[in-house]
Amino acid sequence: MSVVSVWPQLEQLLPLISKPIQYVGGELGAVTKDWDAATVRWALMYPDAYEVGVPNQGVQILYEVLNEQPDVLAERTYAVWPDLEALMRERGVSQFTVDAHRPVGAFDLLGLSFATELGYTNLLTALDLAGIPLDAALRGDEHPIVVAGGHAAFNPEPIADFIDAAVLGDGEEAVLEITAIVRAWKAEGSPGGRDEILLRLAKTESVYVPRFYDVDYLEDGRIHRIVPNRAGVPARIHKRTTMDLDAWPYPKKPIVPLAESVHERYAVEIFRGCTRGCRFCQAGMITRPVRERSITTVGQMVRDGLEFSGYSEVGLLSLSSADHTEIGDMCSGLAEQYAGTNVSLSLPSTRVDAFNIELAQELSRNGRRTGLTFAPEGGSERIRRVINKMVSEEDLINTVVTAYTNGWRQVKLYFMCGLPTEEDEDVLQIARLAHEVIKAGRAATGSKDIRCTVSIGGFVPKPHTPFQWAKMDRPEVIDNRLRLLKQAINSDRSLGRAIGYRYHDGEPSLIEGLLSRGDRRVGAVIRRVWEKGGRFDGWNEHFSYQRWIESSAEVLPGLGVDIDWYTTRERLEDEVLPWDHLDSGLDKDWLWQDWMDSKSEFEQDDCRWTPCFDCGVCPSMDTEIQIGPTGKKLLPLTPLNSSGPRVHAH
Ligand code: SF4
Repeated sequence: MSVVSVWPQLEQLLPLISKPIQYVGGELGAVTKDWDAATVRWALMYPDAYEVGVPNQGVQILYEVLNEQPDVLAERTYAVWPDLEALMRERGVSQFTVDAHRPVGAFDLLGLSFATELGYTNLLTALDLAGIPLDAALRGDEHPIVVAGGHAAFNPEPIADFIDAAVLGDGEEAVLEITAIVRAWKAEGSPGGRDEILLRLAKTESVYVPRFYDVDYLEDGRIHRIVPNRAGVPARIHKRTTMDLDAWPYPKKPIVPLAESVHERYAVEIFRGCTRGCRFCQAGMITRPVRERSITTVGQMVRDGLEFSGYSEVGLLSLSSADHTEIGDMCSGLAEQYAGTNVSLSLPSTRVDAFNIELAQELSRNGRRTGLTFAPEGGSERIRRVINKMVSEEDLINTVVTAYTNGWRQVKLYFMCGLPTEEDEDVLQIARLAHEVIKAGRAATGSKDIRCTVSIGGFVPKPHTPFQWAKMDRPEVIDNRLRLLKQAINSDRSLGRAIGYRYHDGEPSLIEGLLSRGDRRVGAVIRRVWEKGGRFDGWNEHFSYQRWIESSAEVLPGLGVDIDWYTTRERLEDEVLPWDHLDSGLDKDWLWQDWMDSKSEFEQDDCRWTPCFDCGVCPSMDTEIQIGPTGKKLLPLTPLNSSGPRVHAH
């Protein structure tokens, strides 16, 4: 049955709200299809504002992969700002897709990509506006199946009450398999209703359906066990891994927004996975093994993506792009190809070594210099051994000075605060390091016109990392450390003037910590926060620490726990963790050993260049790390002519 667009009602609201263009759709790359001709219909949501959500690679890839199927329709939806939410409630307008403005409640599936847990309250707003019961248990056959994905889905327990299913890992193939199962079930006349389709999905062993698992607790609040409550449902759910990235060269037709967004560029993921082994990094751990996209495919994607989109900026993305085995050829080949055009190329620069600067130098041949960011992450060498970030102070200073002598006037240094075993002194070392960087830079360049910005993020222990057992520091401790650091940076006025200082205070990190390592009981806190008006918790101006603390105090004691129990408590080896039944491929014993190694400040090498150290991922997937070089050349390397990419004039 056809559905009616909400556009006529929405259009009347647009003059009354901020940034109305974000809700109108019609972007280059957007697809609208005939509703009645589709057999399976997905609404895809990035649960944040349009400007943050629209560049999201995960959603763009799934959108394209699904819409390439002739009988499948996929549309996008984003979190609406509170001004529009209020009007939608007043006028009875449902959560809608931006493509054809169809009500989200009419789709077969609602897939959400959670990059961070701070989007959970936005999930509840979208469900509520869509007329979908917040409790998955109360949904009927007429409601969409709500599927969570993205990194936060590796522990979806805090939102277990609100979702029907979660998928761990890469989505390209998973989304097609889920579609095939739903298509077949619908073709049979949807036998057994919602329960049956969820059971069919659960039996694949790669779709987690929380309702088919019971969680028992011990008297002290810890989990006793998590067990299936239905026959045929697997005890463990495995993550999905797309092994051959060359076979999935998406996005081919990126969405080019009409409104402003946080990234306006064509992004190509040059590899997935990372084996550097930084112990705080969930992305690095859960995306193993390393899988490179070949230089040939990257070259083709850049050419096609620019031609389609008209973007003048290309980002070569991954967790540590300078580590691609063909990165040197890739950068020089692309720089050659786009010489004399307005196309600018960039790498997210985090590796602290001269090679990174060489690459940046190569990419800036067009005269457009992107910023350089180095991420030593820890202020002292001791803490860098704890987190397994092997960067010596000497390397760091030499690298930054090389950047200054090569013409960069400004570099950014990224650190974290609140790391396990951290003391004030570890953080104060950041000030000394920044002073040394400026002194050495001035000496090498003979100029006072150099700057560095010290940027500090809050550490949050994440599931499936060696720090999953670690305790967090309280926000007061973090904030005091950050105050001391600021004083230390400014203790020498001449040096302090050349150093910018940006930091996140400790309160949002503590709440992110509650949500990332929480269990099903935390769902009651999310619901309470949302009922009290919690929205857009990733945004400073909307986040209310007080609301989270009050809501936790209202609901958690009745469940035998409190917020400290989830955040500032160190876990022991035998504790059942809320995500133990979700298999990221990493061996729990290996993670524990790495946690112990961290405490004794023992560093672990990168298994790309040394023998395997048995983290468990490769054997669990019956594979090996896949890296080049392929020996192929970046194609085509012919100079561009009028048939080349369209570029914006500047
Ligand atoms: S199993 Fe071995 S080779 Fe594979 S990612 Fe883990 S440590 Fe590296």
